[in-house]
Amino acid sequence: MSIRVVVAGSRGRMGQEAVKMVLADPELELVAEVGSPKSRGEEKGPNGVPFLTSLEEALITTKPDVLVDLTTPQAVKGNMELAILHGVRPVVGTTGLSAEEIQELDNLSQEKGIGAIIAPNFAIGAILMMKFAKEAARYMPHVEIIELHHDKKLDAPSGTAIKTAELIQQSRAEMKQGHPDEEEILDGARGAYYHGFRIHSVRLPGLVAHQEVLFGHVGQTLSIRHDSMNRESFMPGVNLAIKKVMGLTGLVYGLENVMD
Ligand code: NAP
Repeated sequence: MSIRVVVAGSRGRMGQEAVKMVLADPELELVAEVGSPKSRGEEKGPNGVPFLTSLEEALITTKPDVLVDLTTPQAVKGNMELAILHGVRPVVGTTGLSAEEIQELDNLSQEKGIGAIIAPNFAIGAILMMKFAKEAARYMPHVEIIELHHDKKLDAPSGTAIKTAELIQQSRAEMKQGHPDEEEILDGARGAYYHGFRIHSVRLPGLVAHQEVLFGHVGQTLSIRHDSMNRESFMPGVNLAIKKVMGLTGLVYGLENVMD
């Protein structure tokens, strides 16, 4: 039996790719698309499935197994809560949720006995970049993260940068880097401070999603870089998460935790 999927944010850049991916997989069935409340609802979208502006209506009328959420930092928490309360498993790529919100959503999904996955980055190569960065930080604890994204991105730093920072923090003790007397001549010049190291966010047209983790040591540096050239790069990860979430109870944060 195929897995019934609703895509929220289906007219967005990521959402359109997710719709294509679901339609192309015979193991998945697209049952509804959901757009923002301000978008124009249509009885049927171009894919022949209902296009709704109310997620709740979509959940009630089409009874999906999985909600794929690729919306906005403002919408995602409410969408996830609604899905879990309706017994629908969220697979979430939308970034911008805080650690406290993720904990609350985990509690809710445990309470309701269903699975949920939040992946700040669905690109397999980005997962490897984070894994290698965590390993490198054990031996080269001086590190800075530079993440680069298109200029339509709403949150900074990116979810991937925060996740990478959390993994690095697990590998090294907190220590302040740079000169003890360093001074910012322009505010923000040294980037965001996280457990003693810095995260820099670049926003430019033409970029998709890129990150470099730079390590420094005596007489040497190490760069670990990942580039997503287009949004299709995230779709094998979304596909994997849809299939994995069916067998979970509680919230899993990070695609690496469901990769074999
Ligand atoms: P986007 O092009 O702006 O698309 C967002 C879509 O969500 C828009 O179509 C928007 O509709 C819709 N939307 C807003 N509120 C909604 C609601 N309440 N219910 C349903 N739909 C709603 O953004 P994007 O580039 O696709 O990115 C979407 C999210 O994915 C962002 O948080 C981004 O950071 C994240 N992302 C994650 C990954 C990953 O691998 N995890 C990779 C890339 C991006 P309107 O335009 O009508 O408001």
